[in-house]
Amino acid sequence: MPAAVGPVDADALEAAAGQLADRCPGRVSRGLPLAPMTTFRLGGPAALFLRAESGADLVALAEVLAATRLPLLVIGRGSNLLVADAGWPGVALHLGQRFRRVEVDGTELEAGGAMPLPGVAARSAAASLGGIAFAVAIPGTVGGGVRMNAGAHGTELADRLVWADVVQVADPAAGPARPPGEPTRVKPEELGFSYRRSALPPGAVVTAARFSLAPATEAAVRAEIDEARRWRRDNQPVNQPNCGSVFANPPEMAAGRVLEVLGMKGERSGGASVSEVHANFIVAADGARSADVLVLIRRAMRRARDELGITLRTEVQLVGDFGPPLDQPPEGSGG
Ligand SMILES: Cc1cc2nc3c(=O)[nH]c(=O)nc-3n(C[C@H](O)[C@H](O)[C@H](O)COP(=O)(O)OP(=O)(O)OC[C@H]3O[C@@H](n4cnc5c(N)ncnc54)[C@H](O)[C@@H]3O)c2cc1C
Repeated sequence: MPAAVGPVDADALEAAAGQLADRCPGRVSRGLPLAPMTTFRLGGPAALFLRAESGADLVALAEVLAATRLPLLVIGRGSNLLVADAGWPGVALHLGQRFRRVEVDGTELEAGGAMPLPGVAARSAAASLGGIAFAVAIPGTVGGGVRMNAGAHGTELADRLVWADVVQVADPAAGPARPPGEPTRVKPEELGFSYRRSALPPGAVVTAARFSLAPATEAAVRAEIDEARRWRRDNQPVNQPNCGSVFANPPEMAAGRVLEVLGMKGERSGGASVSEVHANFIVAADGARSADVLVLIRRAMRRARDELGITLRTEVQLVGDFGPPLDQPPEGSGG
């Protein structure tokens, strides 16, 4: 959803900050660093940040955005985001504690949009329900997971979703016909799911979701969870900051294989490097900047195109100003 963003009107930002601070006291920050809110631990601050704790906070935000037209970033666990070093110039929304609930109802599990996916997997095991154990190794939230149609080992959230509650906080024209800020219950067939994607409109926030699971023994679900964790430890750079898969798999071969064929495993730019463990992961050392990661992304895309005729598309979402589109070289460089 977040993409390149133009200059932001300083007066609109000032007005939005004042209105939000009045309506959501204690939950609004100016210049809040986003790096600690991402698994990459990179990137600059959000000009304006709201930690929403109620539907009323979302209504307030929707009204402020409608009045100011400021760009919106919804940030979950930040596990699929690369935030620009200059940060996010608009409003960032994060769902707070009130949206972190998880409940079991028969063979269905309902969770708030801020609930971590590993917590959903753990709760499913405790309730002896199978079908969502794969989520244990996906370090995102339910809301981010629904938007990204997160999945692993051949199963994805779309396979289990019964409904999602969606609040259109920005660009109401793009979403369901509802007063801004009010939730709509949406069925999976309305969400346009495909591989690691949904057609959730920009400005739409998933505040809750319900999943259909199947009875299983707790031991079987726990064994699946342990196996998913073991697989991650053996195959991914679990101890270095990263954003998961950088590129979606192109039709020709796995994206990690593309980078291996190009000989890019271990390749560095500043504090960022292509992981030695899995070439579709870029890892960040102390002192790394988002710009370092971007250099590697652009280089991999250019070399894949020029040397292999393969078009790579990023799975990680770029937030803020990263210069020209990824398929064009940045000014003053060979790409
Ligand atoms: C080590 C590692 C392993 C990973 N493994 C996998 C994997 O196996 N499978 C997989 O699918 N992904 C994987 N990922 C990627 C990532 O965890 C998923 O894409 C996850 O669903 C992102 O959730 P998030 O809450 O972190 O979203 P964020 O990264 O914060 O945001 C991602 C997108 O979702 C939007 N968003 C966030 N919250 C909401 C909300 N409440 N409502 C609407 N939109 C929202 C954001 O605006 C953004 O567009 C991995 C990442 C890491 C770091």
